[in-house]
Order: sequence, then structure tokens, then C-alpha cells
Amino acid sequence: MQNQLQVTPISAFKDNYIWLLHKAHNPHAVVVDPGDAAPVLNALAAHQLTLDAILITHHHADHQGGISLLKQAFPDLIVYGPAKENITERTHALSEGMRVHLTTLDCAFEVWEIPGHTLGHIAYVHSDLVFCGDTLFSAGCGRIFEGTPTQLFHSLERFKTLPPHTRLYCGHEYTLSNLKFAQLLEPENQQIIKHQKICEALRAQDLPTLPSTVALELQINPFLRTQENSLIHNTLKYNENISDNHPLSIFTALRAWKNTL
Ligand SMILES: [Zn+2]
Repeated sequence: MQNQLQVTPISAFKDNYIWLLHKAHNPHAVVVDPGDAAPVLNALAAHQLTLDAILITHHHADHQGGISLLKQAFPDLIVYGPAKENITERTHALSEGMRVHLTTLDCAFEVWEIPGHTLGHIAYVHSDLVFCGDTLFSAGCGRIFEGTPTQLFHSLERFKTLPPHTRLYCGHEYTLSNLKFAQLLEPENQQIIKHQKICEALRAQDLPTLPSTVALELQINPFLRTQENSLIHNTLKYNENISDNHPLSIFTALRAWKNTL
């Protein structure tokens, strides 16, 4: 167990998570999406770690705004980021199928291109965990800022192919508000009710509701459940202008509807 990769949340801004990767008895660390440098520097000092690399999922400022200051503190820092986006001081441009080998932590990630929230958004996929940025949230998904509903739909479908136990590390703490929407769509879904209680207790103690797992999201996330009859029925009931009940049409309607809430 000592050599297992540890993933520690660092809270930033109102609801962002910067994920800190480290191992017991190893002074090296990597962070995912450091939107702000100060909380990262504090966490590194608290754990007595030195920062070797940064993994960026997409170009939004709340995910990459801390790079410059971190690079000042650690001049040899390697900055991985999507090839299709403008990432401050990126040293390694990544695209679909490439592998990132974090030598000092002895672990590797496969790169998935998952457009929709932004056009070049990538995920870092490890054997049993994924950093999915703002594409997939627990019980929800990212807004479509640059891509199309079709792109985001297909990006999310890819997560269904992962083993059920795969842990999902998302970029924001949006779970409780997402679960409200999920419950509106599937009032009878006991898993949603049960998970809402768990998350309310966690948030009351200021603890993260993340990571989630693929198995859990398949049970509670409406954006992964667009083939479910009860969800389709309720979506059509509230949205009379949907032309058909194809999963992509339901997904498109849900994403637009969620934006209005
Ligand atoms: Zn974003």
C-alpha cells in the first residue's frame, strides 16, 4: 500500500479542486489544474513535497492560472496540456492516445481528447482513476462553451467504457446542485436519494463529495442515463419541443435545460 498513488484535494476559489498526486515516503508531487498557486504552495509545504509536473485538462483560467507562479517556485517544472489549446508555459503538448509517464511517481496516464466543454479538453486516464476536468461532474457534466452537444455526448459516453470501480476526479464541487436536477428528472431513483444524503453529510463537514466512480455515475448521473425510460418520460413532460427520444436529443435538451436553472 505504501507505493500507492495518493490523490489529495486542494480547494481553490469557490468550488474548484486542484488534485495533488503524491506517494508515501516520496518527496515528489504533481498537481492537476492549478488555477491558483497559493493553495498549491501551502499544500506542498504542509506535506514537504517538491513539485515536478503539472497536468492541465483545459485552458480556462480557474484551471491554469497558477502555472506562472508555480514555475517561478519550481523552474524545472514540466507542464503537460492539450495540444489544441493555449496553455501558459506548456512544455509538453498532448493529444489523443499519447502517454504521460510521471517518472518520479512511477505512474503513467493515457490521454483522451474529450471535447465539448472546450474544444481541446483532455482527460488523464490511469488504470483505476481519471482526471476529467470540467467534462464530467458527479451527477452532472460541464457546460458547452466551445463544442457541440454531439461532441460532449460522445465524450461522456467514453467514460462508460471504463471499469466500474474507476475513480473520477472532477474539477468542481457541484454534486449537491447536480443531484437536485437529477432528482427532478428521476424522483423514484433511490440511488440518487441515498447519495444526496451522503453528500449532504460530507458537505456539512466541509469534505469533498469526490472522487466519484463510474459505477456510481451510471446510477445517478442524468447525462449518462439518457436511455432510461423514466428519465426520458420526465424530460419530454417538461420539454414539449423535443422531436424524438434518441439519447442525443434527450442529452441536448437536458444540457440546455440545466443552463436555465
Ligand atoms: Zn472549465
